Amino acid sequence: MSSAISITNLQKTYANGHQALRGVDLEVQERDFFALLGPNGAGKSTIIGIISTLVRPTGGGVAVYGRDVATHVYETKLDFGVVPQEVNFNPFEKVADIVMTQAGYYGLPRALARERTEKYLRKLGLWDKRDVRSRTLSGGMKRRLMIARALVHEPRLLILDEPTAGVDIELRRSMWDFLQEINNNGTTIILTTHYLEEAEHLCRNIAIIDQGRIIENCSMKSLLNKLDSQTLVCDLRHEMSSEVFAQHTLPGFRHVDSHTLEVDLGRDHDVNEVFALLSQANIHVKGMRNKSNRLEQLFLSRLKNSTV
Ligand code: ADP
Repeated sequence: MSSAISITNLQKTYANGHQALRGVDLEVQERDFFALLGPNGAGKSTIIGIISTLVRPTGGGVAVYGRDVATHVYETKLDFGVVPQEVNFNPFEKVADIVMTQAGYYGLPRALARERTEKYLRKLGLWDKRDVRSRTLSGGMKRRLMIARALVHEPRLLILDEPTAGVDIELRRSMWDFLQEINNNGTTIILTTHYLEEAEHLCRNIAIIDQGRIIENCSMKSLLNKLDSQTLVCDLRHEMSSEVFAQHTLPGFRHVDSHTLEVDLGRDHDVNEVFALLSQANIHVKGMRNKSNRLEQLFLSRLKNSTV
């Protein structure tokens, strides 16, 4: 697999003397779905700004598909689409015109620009809104419009800065499905997010950044494996009082309320064993879920332990 982005010893000190990046090294492979996670002010947007040639590094460099971005600005711009954190289109321009203008900026012939505009507005559920002014769109629609706009030249690489911030949960899921679909079709995706569940759900590889340094960089799977245990919440099909619960022999289980049990699951045990134990006791469960987001736990513990 070849490298989509290669970042070497990247440094950025802003004019006010603030050292936003302190030597960042990262590789993102082609077709990857990569998460860049970190608290506010960690340096995520600075990295994205440098990749997208809007911010100049003070040291090190970035290559996109093998080309140094600092010396190949135009070619690099063709390679990727960026969905920035802030809504940045003209509020008085109509939805379809916004996407068409972007297509023009990339030099697409008019007929192709029209075709692509329709394709992506339809895919993102905005075709019905094509003739309304963008300021009348809801927050979630504005975000989807930014994605449509970023895709109109069909870049190999899509970079999303907090793509679902402020987007309601239903819409977030449909956006995830869409992003997964275009990743499956070959687009490399990098996203920054505060929704750690989002990274866990979507991404194959992850880097965690804090105060301008990468403190973790591995596959999502191996990151999750580093956690020793998780707490499973079991939603019961039938009510069970604590007295009845006490009559069962269910080691490790806790009675939370008449509809809920909890159990801690070590890394050597799996959900099937929990099911087996409960069904032996003739207890039926409606569903099971993780009590807390494991990535969130790990993230917090890594940040606490990191030395800067
Ligand atoms: P993140 O995207 O992870 O929230 P940023 O990359 O936006 O972080 O910012 C990293 C650090 O650099 C922050 O401390 C921020 O205040 C600072 N910073 C960002 N942009 C500028 C700028 N133009 N001038 C000075 N400092 C900046």
